[in-house]
Amino acid sequence: MTTTNIPLTPIDAEPAVTCSTCAACCCQLEVMLITDTGVPERYIDTDDWGGEVMLRLDDGWCAALDRNTMMCSIYEKRPLICREFETGETDCLNERRGIATAYL
Ligand code: SF4
Ligand code: SF4
Repeated sequence: MTTTNIPLTPIDAEPAVTCSTCAACCCQLEVMLITDTGVPERYIDTDDWGGEVMLRLDDGWCAALDRNTMMCSIYEKRPLICREFETGETDCLNERRGIATAYL
């Protein structure tokens, strides 16, 4: 009897986390402006302590989020905190879990 070696392709236990399968969950978080990256004034709000934060609209999302594409409309000028928020890290996964119904 002869045997044939069939190449096996490992299957990931969980799909990779990407922003393209996310309803921009992290863009509902409060984002403090701690450096000047050129965010347009119309997207800036002041918190209860006088600090500058990204303005959020009644739906909870950041005012700079494009509601049609669910992508940042000021990507090149986005705040430092947004730049440092890492896809797939703990905070990201927690936010995705928080509004999991958005994927149903
Ligand atoms: S960084 Fe994470 S929470 Fe934010 S849009 Fe991407 S996948 Fe969603
Ligand atoms: S500035 Fe852009 S990346 Fe940051 S919270 Fe707003 S829409 Fe999201």
